[in-house]
Amino acid sequence: KLHNENLELKGNIRVFCRVRPFLAEDDSNTEGKVISYPTSMDALGRGIELAQNGQKHSFKFDRVFIPDVSQEDVFEDISQLVQSALDGYKVCIFAYGQTGSGKTYTMMGKPGDPEQKGLIPRTLEQIFKTRQFAEPQGWKYEMQVSMLEIYNETIRDLLATNRSSLERTENGTAGKQYTIKHDANGNTHVSDLTVVDVRSAKEVSYLLERAAHSRSVGKTQMNEQSSRSHFVFTLRIYGVNESTEQQVQGILNLIDLAGSERLSKSGSTGDRLKETQAINKSLSSLSDVIFALAKKEDHVPFRNSKLTYLLQPCLGGDSKTLMFVNIAPDLSSAGESLCSLRFAARVN
Ligand code: ADP
Ligand code: MG
Repeated sequence: KLHNENLELKGNIRVFCRVRPFLAEDDSNTEGKVISYPTSMDALGRGIELAQNGQKHSFKFDRVFIPDVSQEDVFEDISQLVQSALDGYKVCIFAYGQTGSGKTYTMMGKPGDPEQKGLIPRTLEQIFKTRQFAEPQGWKYEMQVSMLEIYNETIRDLLATNRSSLERTENGTAGKQYTIKHDANGNTHVSDLTVVDVRSAKEVSYLLERAAHSRSVGKTQMNEQSSRSHFVFTLRIYGVNESTEQQVQGILNLIDLAGSERLSKSGSTGDRLKETQAINKSLSSLSDVIFALAKKEDHVPFRNSKLTYLLQPCLGGDSKTLMFVNIAPDLSSAGESLCSLRFAARVN
């Protein structure tokens, strides 16, 4: 089902656009007036149009998911990528978009509703199921999970059991400084980061709950702290085939990015301004890195942000990257939606 035709050309970078449905709080009068989908066969499932101030903007992505596409159907289109991680590839899946566009819904889903489970829980179920099926062929897998947040260019360990390492200082940065190092084998080490061995999807869902709790513990007076930070879920997979002695090492990173909305410049001062600058810097660094990789440029500016430096070994080379660009369909979001579509079109 995946559109593989341009894979080689694009160095394994794909962009999927997902439009969320209208919500009760959206202005339903604008339904169908902002976002539309071309009906030509060629563009079906790949094209999207945005109308703003009497102008139409058309975009094409590897896939466009319209509002009524279910979580299950979205997952079907990425399950190949999950399999790649089990086969030893390094995979990154990002969710990009303004706050309220459906990033967390895409990644985590709606709590308490199994049908609306997102990519992270579905991925884990697939991985542990596949592991079971691979056992009779002699494959033994070990899995490790870590979860962190990057806020104001500072890492916070979301699985730390020590409460003091979860607390933020006044300006919202973590008390502890985590440093990122890559070794010669392309393995990433974050100093003092908690890494947990996991044997079942259930164990991971328990860790996800712990991480969600950690995210809220550090909240300062700033509202919606979680939408102002990047959430990085990492699953490391070590596979050994006991009969053939084959070995694989795969990594799967699932990233719920900070909200991409531009805050009004005049309104933000002090900490809020610093926070906005940090988000802008890391999102534009991410775009620069993916753009450079797609263009096969010699210099890829990984070091310009914590996020891209952390993920450096998992971006480029033979690794696989998928970016979801999440879009809200209402009129008041049109300006941000256009920015998001342009961002995604640049890396696509
Ligand atoms: P973000 O993480 O980008 O800020 P959320 O994922 O929290 O946005 O989504 C905002 C709201 O929209 C939530 O109430 C969420 O449940 C709902 N939502 C988002 N996408 C969908 C979807 N595809 N189907 C149904 N509800 C959705
Ligand atoms: Mg969110």
